[in-house]
Amino acid sequence: MNNKKQYIMAIDHGTTSTRAILFDHDCRIAGIAQKEGGVDYPHPGWVEQDAVSIWLDTLAVMAGVLNKAGIDPDQVAAIGISNQRETSVLWDKKTGLPIYKAIVWQSRQTADICDEWKKQGLEDMVREKTGLRIDPYFSASKIAWMLEHVPGAREKAENGELMFGTMDSWIVWKLTGQERHITDATNASRTLLCDIENLKWDDELLKAFNIPRSILPDIVPTSSNYGTTAPYHFFGTRVPICSMVGDQQAALFGQLCVEKGMAKNTYGTGGFLLMNTGNDIVRSQNGLLSTIAWQIGDKVTYALEGSIFVSGSVMKWMRDELELFENVGETAKMAERAQTTAGVYIIPAFVGLGAPYWDDRAKAAIVGLSLGTNHDQLVRAALESMAYQAKDVLDAMERDSGVKITRLKVDGGAAANDFLLQFQSDLCQIPVERFQVNELTALGAAFLAGLAIGFWSEDDLNIEVERTFQAQCDEAEMEARFENWHRAVDTCKAFKP
Ligand code: ADP
Repeated sequence: MNNKKQYIMAIDHGTTSTRAILFDHDCRIAGIAQKEGGVDYPHPGWVEQDAVSIWLDTLAVMAGVLNKAGIDPDQVAAIGISNQRETSVLWDKKTGLPIYKAIVWQSRQTADICDEWKKQGLEDMVREKTGLRIDPYFSASKIAWMLEHVPGAREKAENGELMFGTMDSWIVWKLTGQERHITDATNASRTLLCDIENLKWDDELLKAFNIPRSILPDIVPTSSNYGTTAPYHFFGTRVPICSMVGDQQAALFGQLCVEKGMAKNTYGTGGFLLMNTGNDIVRSQNGLLSTIAWQIGDKVTYALEGSIFVSGSVMKWMRDELELFENVGETAKMAERAQTTAGVYIIPAFVGLGAPYWDDRAKAAIVGLSLGTNHDQLVRAALESMAYQAKDVLDAMERDSGVKITRLKVDGGAAANDFLLQFQSDLCQIPVERFQVNELTALGAAFLAGLAIGFWSEDDLNIEVERTFQAQCDEAEMEARFENWHRAVDTCKAFKP
């Protein structure tokens, strides 16, 4: 510590970009640096990223934000990390080189492995221990795929020469100068290998999936002092690393959903609705997941989660592949100009469907087209699909928890879209609340890091509402549209070329 003003640095590594954000003691942003990362789609349904690029982007944004904000490295009191979850990489312990690309959470390349595990009757055991389901989304089948398909990988793993990590582990291992191979409880809870009751890697699951324990990191609390940056990776300075947290759990904490029953929705690459369920693991009957919200000290808080695989990324697809617009910022105006979709529905099942449908082979579809369908209507249908999917999950969550959600707190890149939030409010007939700071994932990681070193006490944490969207539409009209949405989803579930 020194006398200069201190900050918490959050590294927010998302699927689309890696950001470093500095927060001051008033929970205000003092600087942001961002790099959009590459994503490869080598085959239909496959999604991969280069882990080395992710690390280099991390270094670049850490330097970038210090330079931009004119802040010295020794003014960073602690670092917190939030990360895209489930995305998995295996690397060589000695060289630090990944043996394959990082397989991204959205990727479906392991559908066959999952089918095989289901055939073996593992589904019930998996659900009971992990709170999840057998699906390519989670890390286990991605690890099994790499061990099977990368030449020499299995042998190296058996010899203890490989390390596995989700992106939190990878970044911390690098940042600490290859000293600490750890993951936090939230990230561990997404691997399909962790028993969420006792927060331990489960031998029975490891055996069933044929994954050697030696490659796994140690599981640590979400907020704690894990060690410091290696000076050569943090501009000559040792800064404590004090939180690691999956991005959705980070957003839940950033939204200050710290009490049982509080819920938020994030519209990022995917869409994620999470509800804090306190110390209870709520087992879903409606296609949701039970997961760890955070572990602070010995205290574990759980969450119920609905994961939507494609939310904001449908807009990225429309921009990059259909070239319907140049900038996602234009889309709210386009949707408003359309006034209605004129009966067009887009089901963005580009990588199958997640909650609450869980159909890993469903294909995306646009239905209800006419010769008059235009750009604006397509854009509107895509934005509406983000809201319909969120309502599907919200309804499931109310049924599972028995709690009526009376207000939805939102964040994520696409929460900047006023049309989307107004439509969401109309559809769900509840107020939708957006905050002054939209970087709530980063803020959650910063809060958790700041609490660990006493930079903040719980009373210091605050966020301010920027705008509340109130329902303005007729409920019956919205119900009819929601019914059509379900008919549209059925057509795309049935289409399996
Ligand atoms: P992640 O953390 O998953 O990398 P972000 O939360 O940064 O993603 O959100 C980025 C996603 O949101 C992109 O897929 C982008 O297409 C979408 N997006 C960003 N801004 C808007 C907007 N104004 N309207 C609609 N979609 C948007």
